[in-house]
Amino acid sequence: MKASFATHDVFNQSPPFEDVNLFASDRHLVETVKAFGGAAAEAELSEFGRHWGSAAMAARGRLANENTPKLRTFDSRGNRRDEVEFHPAYHELMAHAAHAGMHNSTWSEAGKPVGGAAHVARGAKYYIAAQVESGHLCPITMTHASVAALASQPEILAKTMPVIATRSYDPSFAPWWTKRGMTLGMGMTEKQGGTDVRANMTRAARDGDAYRITGHKWFMSAPMCDAFLVLAQADQGLSCFFMPRFAPDGSVNALHFQRLKDKLGNRSNASSEVEFVGAYAERIGGAGAGIRTILQMVQLTRLDCALACAGLMRSGLAHALHHARHRSVFQKHLADQPLMQAVLSDMALHVEASAALVMRLCHAFDRMHDDANEAAYMRLLTPAIKYWVCKSSPALLYEAMECLGGNGYVEEGILARHYREAPVNAIWEGSGNVMCLDVLRALSREPDAALSVLRRLGEDADGQPGAAEAAAFIGKTFQRADSERVARLAVEKLALLAAAAALNKVSSRHAELFALTRLAAPHASMLGAVDLEPADIHSLLERALN
Ligand SMILES: Cc1cc2nc3c(=O)[nH]c(=O)nc-3n(C[C@H](O)[C@H](O)[C@H](O)COP(=O)(O)OP(=O)(O)OC[C@H]3O[C@@H](n4cnc5c(N)ncnc54)[C@H](O)[C@@H]3O)c2cc1C
Repeated sequence: MKASFATHDVFNQSPPFEDVNLFASDRHLVETVKAFGGAAAEAELSEFGRHWGSAAMAARGRLANENTPKLRTFDSRGNRRDEVEFHPAYHELMAHAAHAGMHNSTWSEAGKPVGGAAHVARGAKYYIAAQVESGHLCPITMTHASVAALASQPEILAKTMPVIATRSYDPSFAPWWTKRGMTLGMGMTEKQGGTDVRANMTRAARDGDAYRITGHKWFMSAPMCDAFLVLAQADQGLSCFFMPRFAPDGSVNALHFQRLKDKLGNRSNASSEVEFVGAYAERIGGAGAGIRTILQMVQLTRLDCALACAGLMRSGLAHALHHARHRSVFQKHLADQPLMQAVLSDMALHVEASAALVMRLCHAFDRMHDDANEAAYMRLLTPAIKYWVCKSSPALLYEAMECLGGNGYVEEGILARHYREAPVNAIWEGSGNVMCLDVLRALSREPDAALSVLRRLGEDADGQPGAAEAAAFIGKTFQRADSERVARLAVEKLALLAAAAALNKVSSRHAELFALTRLAAPHASMLGAVDLEPADIHSLLERALN
C-alpha cells in the first residue's frame, strides 16, 4: 500500500527484497549446486530458499539482532543461574535451521559421513540462511562440526548422536540426555592466547573415569549450548574434553559465565567469558592429543566461515541489484547507468567466483573419504578459501551498501548488519595470517599431495588468462626459504586460481572474465574499476538475479 503524507507522496523507493525464493532467484547457485553433484537436492533447496526468503524469516532476523541476548548470572535471591535469555525470534531461527538439518545432515545417525552430495546440499542451505541471519548459525556450525571431534571417542559419540541426529531444537535448560535435540559449542581461546592454544592454562584433573576442569575461557560461544568441546592441560599435555552444562547426577555443572561480549556484529548470538570451577568433563581423543582432536572439527567450522561470507556477499549483491532495478536517478534506472553496471557486474563476478569456490570445497568434503585427491584439496584449500572469501567480504558489502545510497547505511535495512557481521568470519577459527601459515603447513607436511592439487588446479583452469603463470608463481613462492614472509601473496593467488578453476565448471565465459580481471593482472583497489564488454555485463547481471 502506498504511504500518504500531508506534504508528499512516497515514490522511487525500491520495494522490500522479501518474499523472494533465495535459491530459485539465484541462477548461479542453482547451476553451481548441479555442477558439484547436488542436482537431486534442487526441489528441497527451492523450498528452503522460498521459506528463508520470506518476510517472516527476515523479521525474525531483525528481531533477533535488535533484542540481543542477556546473561542472567544470578536469580533474585543470589543463587547462580548462569543462563542466557534470547528473544523468541532467535529460538525460532534455531528451530528452522535444525528442522532443515543444518546441524547434522552430513552425518548418519551413527555419526558417519553420509557421502553423496550432502555437504553441497547443506552448504547451499547455509549460504542461503546466512543471507537472512548469521548469528544463530554459530551454534549450528559448532554442533555440526563437533561430530568430527566426537568421533575420536566412540562411546561419547554413540551416546550423544541419537540426540544430535534429531531435527528438533530444544531450548530448555536441562541435561542433554533428557532433551529432544542438543547443540554444542567450543572453548579454546584464553586471555593469554587464542591462536597459540598450547599456552592454555586451564587444567584438567582426573576424577575417576572423568575429569574436573579448572580455569577460564576468554571467548566461548554459545553459552546456552548443551555441551562444549574444551581444551585443557592434563598431566599428559593439552587434551580435548566434552563438558556438558549438567553433570551426570543432573546438577548444573560448574560453568560460571562472567560476561557476554559486546560485539561489533554477530549480535543475536551470545559469546561468553567463562570460568570453570572444577567443572565435570570427559576426555575426547588421546591424552595430550587435544589439538589433533579439535582440528577435526575446525576444518568444518572454517568451511562454514567461508560459506557464511559468500552468502553475505550474495545478499549484498542481490539487495544492490534489486534496488538499482527500481531506483531512478536522472530519469534512468540505476541498473541502466553504465557506471553502476560496471560496479554491479564486477561485484557479480566476485560473488559468482566465491560461490563456486565454496561449493567446490563442499564437494571436496563430500568426496574426501573415498578420494585422496579430494582429501588433499580439502586440506590445502580450506584455509586458503577461508582466507580469501572471508577477507574480501567487508569490501564487497561496503560497496553493496553504497549502491543503496543512504538507505544502505541505516539499520532498518539488512546491509548494515551484514557489513558488521562480515569481519568476524576472518577473525575466528584462525585469523588471516594463521590461515596462510596453515597453507604452508599443509605444503610442508604433505608436499607431494599439495603439489598435485596445484597441478590439478592448473588443469581445471587450463587456458584461462594468467592461470599457468599463477600456478608457476605459487609453486615457486611456496618453495622460497622466506615463504612465510610472502605467504599472503601466494595464498591469495592460490585462492584466485582455485576460484577460476571452480567457476570454470559452472560458466567458462565468466571464469575467463574472472581470470582476466583478477589472475592475469591484479584487480584495481575498488570494485567496478574494470573494463568489461557490455555483453558480458548483461550476462553477469541477468544471471545474478532472476
Ligand atoms: C565473536 C567471537 C566469538 C568467538 N567464539 C569463540 C569460541 O566459541 N571459542 C573459542 O575458542 N574462541 C572463540 N573466539 C576467539 C577467536 O577464535 C580468537 O579471537 C582468534 O582465534 C584469534 O585469537 P586471539 O584473539 O587470541 O588473537 P591472537 O592469537 O593474539 O592473534 C592476533 C593476530 O596475530 C596473528 N598471528 C597469530 N600468530 C601469528 C604468526 N605466527 N605470524 C603472524 N601473525 C600471527 C593472527 O592472525 C591475528 O591477526 C571468538 C572470537 C570472536 C570475535
